[in-house]
Amino acid sequence: MHETLRIGGLTRFTTQDFPGRLACVVHLQGCPLACRYCHAPHLRPKKPGQLTWPDCLSWLEGRRGLLDGVVFSGGEPCSQEGLDAALAECAERGFATGLHSSGVLPDPLARILPLLDWIGLDWKAPPELAGLVTGRARVGQRFLLALDVVLAGGVPYEIRTTYHPSLLPWRTMVEMAETLAARGVAEWVIQEFSCAGCPDARLVAEAAPLPDPLLAEMGSILPVKVRRAPVPAGASAAGGGV
Ligand code: SF4
Repeated sequence: MHETLRIGGLTRFTTQDFPGRLACVVHLQGCPLACRYCHAPHLRPKKPGQLTWPDCLSWLEGRRGLLDGVVFSGGEPCSQEGLDAALAECAERGFATGLHSSGVLPDPLARILPLLDWIGLDWKAPPELAGLVTGRARVGQRFLLALDVVLAGGVPYEIRTTYHPSLLPWRTMVEMAETLAARGVAEWVIQEFSCAGCPDARLVAEAAPLPDPLLAEMGSILPVKVRRAPVPAGASAAGGGV
């Protein structure tokens, strides 16, 4: 059993984070990025976690027959060396294994991929805008490498991108759709930026839904699924699209 996994939190039940599974989410501590829309800044530092892996595993023992999947999320879960062992320990106990990754660490991701039953991979931005979106320069090529690792890996996947008009303009979104279509991606999931809990006041002020004509243009290139941002209480949903 890996004793050193740093766990920042545990979501004990979800039907949203692992397609087709009743799952829990283990949130691992540590992420090298500083995305402007990050809703979990407390998970970014590489510091000791709130829970130990042995405690999590013992809790999972009692969930056999109630949950059928375990998703590791972040932070960036590939930043922890103990992830391989933890995935194997979940599989030994009969749980399907899932991962949410930013794609910033393509080499560890390639090592971990064969241990997974499903992966949700972000494609945050093309290389020329990766620094603006993630707060880190020179990570854009890593995202493309991670994309190619996942597409070649034979593991069921979801490729998703967070949309904000000030970070990913119209032309960029169309070019991203073309890049994914050229790589044979079957469906692209667009998650609208959510204002709730975002620490960047400028992003919040400039937030807007994905325009329907842009959705139609991207949809003419490859199938696109949109996860709409929750509408704040008291606000109008007008302009929200589909
Ligand atoms: S990859 Fe996720 S955890 Fe890391 S900074 Fe970006 S949004 Fe936050």
